[in-house]
Amino acid sequence: MINKFNSQTSLYALFGNPVGHSLSPVMHNKAFGETGLNSVYLAFRVADIDAAMAAVRSVGIRGASVTIPHKVAVVNSLDEIDDQVRRIGAVNTVINRDGRLWGYNSDGQGAVRALLEKTAVRGADIAIIGAGGAARAVSLALLSEKVGPLAIANRTLKRAEALVDSLAKYAGAGGTEAELHALSWHGPELREAIRNCHLVVNCTTLGMKYASQAGQFPLEADWISAGVLVYDLVYNPPETPLLKMAQKAGARALGGLPMLVYQGAASFSLWTGREAPVDIMFSAARKALSAEC
Ligand code: NAP
Repeated sequence: MINKFNSQTSLYALFGNPVGHSLSPVMHNKAFGETGLNSVYLAFRVADIDAAMAAVRSVGIRGASVTIPHKVAVVNSLDEIDDQVRRIGAVNTVINRDGRLWGYNSDGQGAVRALLEKTAVRGADIAIIGAGGAARAVSLALLSEKVGPLAIANRTLKRAEALVDSLAKYAGAGGTEAELHALSWHGPELREAIRNCHLVVNCTTLGMKYASQAGQFPLEADWISAGVLVYDLVYNPPETPLLKMAQKAGARALGGLPMLVYQGAASFSLWTGREAPVDIMFSAARKALSAEC
């Protein structure tokens, strides 16, 4: 179905910097077309997120996605935030309800939905690499799934320690008390944690196409045991350097595309009150990614 725009068309927006390679516009516009909604989704590269939120109010933009580097700063420009945002401290979805802006975060939900399609995580020993917004959202969502010990390693150790401290009060969220550890990036503890865990999640930007960290990976090949699941939140390229390394080591691999689609589907439902056409969103995102390769 083709979207036709007129004075009744609802506008949705993505705000970030950069946004040029985002798959969200193609995914959401396909979803609007498929569900027959008279809506359009456009990407805006913005430096000032407060000014962007003022524009959402003044222009009457119905909803927005917020991405790097504005997910934390945007919280101060909103009128209301939900409990999930209070815990994570970051927003990826905004809804404009009669001029009042509400913030939500669907990253953790999207990440865990994708993960649970691949493996069970109850009691699993998990190593998270990275301590930014995505690591925080994913860790919190995992704690609700009754996971086992959770080790968090980060280039800047202080950020990993701060994340562990702030997660401590949610460690019993799944009904069992998960052990939390902060690990240094270079120490032998990280190597041992990776060797002995069931699941490794890369929540850093290492390996992202178009970033200065393109082609890089956060760990050594001989740390990966056969049978472990390596989950890379990076979705472009679809086969990241880390995922290639994992497959070579006989490990299972999961890329970031399903998370991208599921967090987008959750945003779509928040904005429209409708179930998202997930299959359509998947095929639009895959097609756009393969057109780039
Ligand atoms: P962020 O808050 O900026 O955090 C970036 C993380 O990467 C930090 O832990 C940072 O470590 C680390 N890092 C950056 N450069 C590094 C380097 N050269 N060496 C080692 N570590 C480095 O970003 P975010 O929002 O958490 O996003 C992280 C990743 O998740 C991105 O690749 C993003 O695309 C991906 N993501 C994917 C989805 C999806 O739907 N698939 C959704 C959200 C995020 P320091 O603390 O030491 O700086």
